[in-house]
Amino acid sequence: ATPTALLVGTGRGAQQGILIKGPEVLEASTGIDAVVLDKTGTVTTGAMQLTSLLSARQWGGEYEDTDLLRLAGSLESASEHPVAHAITNAAREALGSRSGSLPRPQDFRSHAGTGVSGEVEGHHVLVGRRRLMESSGIKLPSEVRELVTEGEAHGSTAVLVAIDGEFSGILTVSDTVKETSAEALAELRRLGMDPLLLTGDNEGAARRVAEEVGISNVVSDALPEDKVATIKGLQSQGKTVAMIGDGVNDAAALAQADLGIAMGTGTDVAINAADITVIRGDLRSAADAVRLSRRTLRTIR
Ligand code: ADP
Ligand code: MG
Repeated sequence: ATPTALLVGTGRGAQQGILIKGPEVLEASTGIDAVVLDKTGTVTTGAMQLTSLLSARQWGGEYEDTDLLRLAGSLESASEHPVAHAITNAAREALGSRSGSLPRPQDFRSHAGTGVSGEVEGHHVLVGRRRLMESSGIKLPSEVRELVTEGEAHGSTAVLVAIDGEFSGILTVSDTVKETSAEALAELRRLGMDPLLLTGDNEGAARRVAEEVGISNVVSDALPEDKVATIKGLQSQGKTVAMIGDGVNDAAALAQADLGIAMGTGTDVAINAADITVIRGDLRSAADAVRLSRRTLRTIR
C-alpha cells in the first residue's frame, strides 16, 4: 500500500464530511456484508416529541399533569437522551414564562437503556421503562401494561414516571425517520450489506421505523450488552459487520463491529469508539464512507 493514496482517500473523505480514523480502517470496509443500525438518532432524527401525558390520578396518584411534567422534565434536564429532551422541552413549554425555573435534579443517575433517576425538590423521581419500575419495586396498576402495549403498537415509546416510590403517570414520545434514511438503506443494500435494526426501544416503535425504511430484521428491547451480543452473533455466523450508531449505549457495539460508524451529531462516547464519523449525521454519508474506503483500497492495490 502506498501511503500517499491512503492519505488522498482519507482527505477526500474529510471534504465529504467523513472522518476516517486511520488508513487501517479502509481494509475493514472491503468484506462488510451486514450492517447493524441503531434506531434513535441514527435512522430517526432523534428529535422526539411528547405526544401524550397521563397522570396516575385516576388510580389514586397524587400528582397532576403539570407537577408530573415539572418533576419528570427537571430530572430529564440532566440526561442527553432524545426521550429526555422531548420531556424537558414539553415541561419548559407547559411551564411557559416560568420555564427558566425548572428545578435542578440532585443525585442524577442514568440507567443504561432503561431510564433515569434522581432527586427533584426533595422528591425521589424515576422515569423510564416498565423494566426500571419493576426493578425498583414500583407497583403498577394492572391497566398500565395494556396502555403501554397499546402506545407501543402505534409505534410510540411509552415511559413511566414514579415519584417517591409511587407510580405517577405515563408519558408517550414519538420520533420521525430522517428524510434520507430510506434512500441510504437502499444504497447500503446495493453495496452488498444486509441491514438489521437494533434498538433499546420497544418492538412496536422499532417495527414502525423498520417498515418505513425497508428493513425486515429487527432486534428490539436491547440493553447495551445485548447490542454487543447481536454483533458478535452475526460475526460468529461468518458475517463481517458494520455498526452505525450515535448513543452512549452504542459505544461497545461500535467497538465490537468490524467497522464502527458514528453519527457526528451523536455522543462523544460513540464517536470515540467508532472507526469512521459522518459529520452531518446523514445516513447516506455512511454508505458514501464505505464506498470511498473500498475505492481507495482498490486504487492502492
Ligand atoms: P436506542 O437504542 O433506540 O438509542 P436506548 O437504549 O438509548 O435506545 O434507550 C432504550 C429505552 O430506554 C428508550 O426507548 C426509553 O424507553 C428508555 N430510556 C433511555 N433513556 C431514557 C431517559 N433519559 N428517560 C426515559 N427513558 C429512557
Ligand atoms: Mg441512538
